[in-house]
Amino acid sequence: MNEVRTRFAPSPTGYLHIGGLRTALYAYLIAKKNNGKFLLRIEDTDQDRFVEGAIEVIYKTLKLVGLQHDEGPDIGGPYGPYIQSERKPIYLKYAKELVERGGAYYCFCSKERLDQLREEAARNNTVFKYDGHCRNLSRDEVERRLQAGEPYVIRQKVPYTGTTSFHDELFGTITVENSTLEDGILIKSDGLPTYNFANVVDDHLMKINPVVRGSEYLSSTPKYNLIYESFGWEIPKYIHLAPVMKEPGKKLSKREGDASFEDFYNKGFLKEAIVNYVALLGWSPGDDREFFTMDELIEAFDIKGLSKSPAIFDINKMRWMNSEYIKKLSLEEFHKMALPYYKDAGLPDNMNLLRLSSLIQGRIEILSDIPDIVAFLKVMPEYEADLFVHKKSKTTLENSYENLAKAIEVLEMLEEWTEERIHQVLIDLITQLGVKNSQLLWPVRVAASGKLVTPGGAAEILGLLGKNESMRRLHIGLDKLKAALNL
Ligand code: GLU
Repeated sequence: MNEVRTRFAPSPTGYLHIGGLRTALYAYLIAKKNNGKFLLRIEDTDQDRFVEGAIEVIYKTLKLVGLQHDEGPDIGGPYGPYIQSERKPIYLKYAKELVERGGAYYCFCSKERLDQLREEAARNNTVFKYDGHCRNLSRDEVERRLQAGEPYVIRQKVPYTGTTSFHDELFGTITVENSTLEDGILIKSDGLPTYNFANVVDDHLMKINPVVRGSEYLSSTPKYNLIYESFGWEIPKYIHLAPVMKEPGKKLSKREGDASFEDFYNKGFLKEAIVNYVALLGWSPGDDREFFTMDELIEAFDIKGLSKSPAIFDINKMRWMNSEYIKKLSLEEFHKMALPYYKDAGLPDNMNLLRLSSLIQGRIEILSDIPDIVAFLKVMPEYEADLFVHKKSKTTLENSYENLAKAIEVLEMLEEWTEERIHQVLIDLITQLGVKNSQLLWPVRVAASGKLVTPGGAAEILGLLGKNESMRRLHIGLDKLKAALNL
């Protein structure tokens, strides 16, 4: 059996779309599962869409997520070059050969003529289709016009009658009437190929099999097969992947910030979590396992688990999965990732941030949640005195006032300001007063944080804040209670 060789063939847009990442991942898994090769090919023949630095983004992102290619523009390989714009002469040579073989022809139609055809089609409410005007030019005429330097394109010559079938590993056998196909352009007037031609030539020359790509190419595949057949080339296996959607009928949108790997990575999703989640978008291992490392994916992957229906990208599911990945980090790893977010939140340098990390690690879904969660440590939030009243903790304005005042007294005297000591004096005070734990700890925590929910309890927060800031806040809380009680 021939070596399994798959490729990822992105157009350099400047970002990696989630759907593209998934295609790359599945192509990679299929190759690795079969001890084959995974190639990177850059499809940049649409020079109008050139984006500066976009190819570097592709290298960087694939490396980051661990989809290391075996051949590609940056590392070379036996079938290079791997950037389509550098393969221009190759396509032209094969296009001319296809003309010789009767599978293509030169077309000299002017833009004006084609525009006119388009307008006519629009007027008649029909879909524009090239009318084959140049399909049967004589060899002599073609030669003469080429000699005269007339601009031209090369078009595919699709049969007008009959049908073309192809087999997809997922979607089965698909048959189309040739009359629905068009004499599409293979070589543009700038001498560069269209995707429709370049993909066939490259997949053949680079010995790609199977071809793994998005299902948006399903409808063009018959035309590709006609090209393979004209050349007498072996047709590869096809695996077309169903799309990833935001909701049924709605695409992920770059503009709404939910389409690219980078969008999510920059929001503080871990790359492992993104890859793990994306792997499950349209593929199932056949059991209820949800967590996979890359090696486990290679082990478990099987195209039988691919789904034919569009996958729905569920951001909440990915957030949950990310929170699980965050929990699995060591405290040191998590702390390193959290530090830039503490900086963003403007937390003071002398705060025990490692302790803070240990308090929040189990509570956040994505790293960019951090600034909001810790903001109260930097600036005391505004709050109303009602926050002290909590049924479950059995606190009222009155008992909160009394207990907070007592807590302030003992804390004022505490010299060794550590979490342990703070905890100890508060517990001692609870015993001495004979109140419920929550009746003291609730008002202290509320006054220290101004919040209903906090990472850590009263002693942890006071420990982080330091004595001066703690005492300042507790006094503000006491004043608030005083005012509310009209004392
Ligand atoms: N270059 C194409 C794109 O970025 C991908 C083509 C393919 O996978 O065959 O959409």
